[in-house]
Amino acid sequence: MKSLKENFQKIHILIIGSGIVGKFNALELSELGFQITIIDPAQQKNSSNAALGLLMGNMYQKRKGRSWALRKQSMELWPKWLELLKKFNNELKIEKPLIQLTTNEQTFKKLEKFINENNDQHLKILERDSIPIKNISKAFQINNLKGIISFKDGRINAVSLLKTLDSYLKYKKVNFLEDEIIKIKKSNKQWIAESKKKKEIKSDIIILCNSLNTIDLIDNLTHNIKLKPVLGQALEIDINDAKVDLLSLPKQFNINGKNIIPISQSKLIIGSTDEYSRKPEEDIFEKLTNFVDKKPTWLVKENITKKWSGIRSRPDGEPSPIMKTLQDGIILCTGFYKNGILLAPACSKWVANEIKNYLC
Ligand SMILES: Cc1cc2nc3c(=O)[nH]c(=O)nc-3n(C[C@H](O)[C@H](O)[C@H](O)COP(=O)(O)OP(=O)(O)OC[C@H]3O[C@@H](n4cnc5c(N)ncnc54)[C@H](O)[C@@H]3O)c2cc1C
Repeated sequence: MKSLKENFQKIHILIIGSGIVGKFNALELSELGFQITIIDPAQQKNSSNAALGLLMGNMYQKRKGRSWALRKQSMELWPKWLELLKKFNNELKIEKPLIQLTTNEQTFKKLEKFINENNDQHLKILERDSIPIKNISKAFQINNLKGIISFKDGRINAVSLLKTLDSYLKYKKVNFLEDEIIKIKKSNKQWIAESKKKKEIKSDIIILCNSLNTIDLIDNLTHNIKLKPVLGQALEIDINDAKVDLLSLPKQFNINGKNIIPISQSKLIIGSTDEYSRKPEEDIFEKLTNFVDKKPTWLVKENITKKWSGIRSRPDGEPSPIMKTLQDGIILCTGFYKNGILLAPACSKWVANEIKNYLC
């Protein structure tokens, strides 16, 4: 009798979209032995390349429901994938811990309640006289910061992760096509995907990982799936101030909802926004720096060295993300308006199980 892997080798899977979700699905499925093709017309210009890479799993304040289950599973899966990917990029790592701070008394009370009720040794309230709070308060000149620290959460560099996945997928002989799928249809038992460059790609299974454009490829009268564009923006600042050493700050932290990542002694990244829009705002500085009432002298518009944005898709009328089998051999893995980097391992595992159930 043939092994499962030998049987899987005969199955061709087409993944539409090569953001983090498409690439992670390719990783999971190529490990299982499937033949994989990924197609994307613009694999560097997606929201995955704009992501800050924060993995906010354990800090999630609900401890039940699908969202928590996906976070928990992803946090468990990340070390295994990291181990494997390190063979292709030894520097790839998750920087820990992650700190969440607030100046709002009510928000802090909620955080405090969450920590006290959960009794999780990896989560702690940060004392006001702790070194991280002292250093952040000094650099940003904020007096009343309070917060929590999660030793399990952290950050992975998203661009570096995507590049490492490319090397791995190349090694696994995953076929990459630079093209856009414009239509999918069934013919006998196979799926045929038609591309803009007039190619027809035959496959046994299609996974739609193409974010907002997913709805263009499915019969929406039958499936009624709605996705709305959500814009995220970020910027890099060169503080140009010898008195502040950004490397004295924690590797990543969040103040009043804005993520802050010091990347060198003088540079930091601040992100991101969530707006129902597709058009990046020219003047994003105020929105991204409103986590402080009175800005320190170095936090000024003139110090911006880079700005970038990405558009993700948010499901309308159902929770994010959408993971569904639409009909035999068509799987949706889309609607990751937030946390696509964090959730990619758990969602790919779900897709793999769905495929195994369909085939076996
Ligand atoms: C500024 C910013 C900061 C963020 N920070 C974080 C963070 O800290 N942590 C975190 O977990 N998440 C973060 N996110 C969210 C994260 O980036 C998304 O959840 C994730 O990138 C979604 O990945 P995706 O693969 O679904 O979509 P995308 O990365 O957008 O990829 C979709 C791909 O599909 C392709 N495509 C579309 N149509 C077709 C077609 N017809 N045929 C072929 N290909 C097609 C596109 O070209 C694109 O490459 C952030 C996002 C932004 C914008």
